[in-house]
Amino acid sequence: MRLLLATGNAHKVVEVQEALGDGVLVEAHDTGAEETGTTFEENALIKARALAAQVGELALADDSGIEIDHLGGEPGIRSARWTDEADWIPRVLRELAGVGPERRGCRYVCAAAAVWPDGHEVVVRGTVEGRIAEAPRGAGGFGYDPLVVPHEGDGRTFAEMSPEEKQAISHRARAFRALLAHLHPVL
Ligand code: IMP
Repeated sequence: MRLLLATGNAHKVVEVQEALGDGVLVEAHDTGAEETGTTFEENALIKARALAAQVGELALADDSGIEIDHLGGEPGIRSARWTDEADWIPRVLRELAGVGPERRGCRYVCAAAAVWPDGHEVVVRGTVEGRIAEAPRGAGGFGYDPLVVPHEGDGRTFAEMSPEEKQAISHRARAFRALLAHLHPVL
């Protein structure tokens, strides 16, 4: 079965496809919807609602980001736009310069939403706790992955892990696996 995902991010498409498994084919549509919500859940719903309205069928979306404890949870929902993409990692390192290992806590958050054309909606959240590394490591993943060391891992950053290792514990995989339970009646 084909499921529509409101995103223009190719990395997300691959990760959501892996999380949902072979039983479904994830098809990406970039709606261009503006993320005007104040929470991950609101923004995921805004994107899924926009796509469901455009195509007239069940639509999925996610909204995700990194919360850094030392920055009071920033950049959070603004993770994609708080600074230029090339500056994401340098800026985190600048903001945390001189901050010791015990105060470098962070988490990835992902809200995953499903919206049906009749107005029925579901939104769920997945998280993974970790810490910000002293310097970027690894070439895998995307975004902030070279800086994020999950507590559930062995000290490597997400960018040093295989896609399968990231998938086993990631915020996005957790959110979409939880969403899948709500989709079973239609699959
Ligand atoms: P949005 O969900 O499209 O608003 O963008 C979320 C932003 O958070 C991404 O552009 C990345 O900067 C960051 N982000 C979310 N999930 C991940 C991840 O799994 N790895 C690295 N960065 C992520």
